Amino acid sequence: MLRFLCPQWVFDNYEAVTPEFLKEHGVKLLLADLDFTLAPKSQSEPDESLTCWIGALKEAGIEFAILSNNRSPVRVEKFCKPLKVGYVGHAGKPGTRGFHEAMARYGVNAGETAMLGDKLLTDTLGARRSGVLMLMVEPRGGAVGAWNHVLHALQQPFKAASAHDERKKH
Ligand SMILES: [Mg+2]
Repeated sequence: MLRFLCPQWVFDNYEAVTPEFLKEHGVKLLLADLDFTLAPKSQSEPDESLTCWIGALKEAGIEFAILSNNRSPVRVEKFCKPLKVGYVGHAGKPGTRGFHEAMARYGVNAGETAMLGDKLLTDTLGARRSGVLMLMVEPRGGAVGAWNHVLHALQQPFKAASAHDERKKH
């Protein structure tokens, strides 16, 4: 169980995850959580940084899709449309259904897939149960609200126990 809560890699942010890194690890499909991973919850559309980063992934031939637990598709679609990327909404992480749906859609297996996310109990647990490489990031824009501060403090020991902690500040 504890193994399923430890991300294999931890980074400061999504920009630290490069096409070269993904190719080195045989990743053909990168799935990503939206809120606090690609953008703070307060940001309603993709910014230039995200647009450039997705562009570089596409140029490298890496497929990209958002895997979000958001119940409403409105927010996710607002990000996906300008970025021209797909999504699996209402994904039910840490359940494995959304992961399998995405992998089937892009014709890849778990060994060719990675998940990028900021939370242990949804993103990390779901990825590891699905056999997908888990790349964890610090919450984008910082933790918002008392609960998220507590949550992110609770996540720290699991992140610190990651085999590859690439964060600059600990
Ligand atoms: Mg999130």
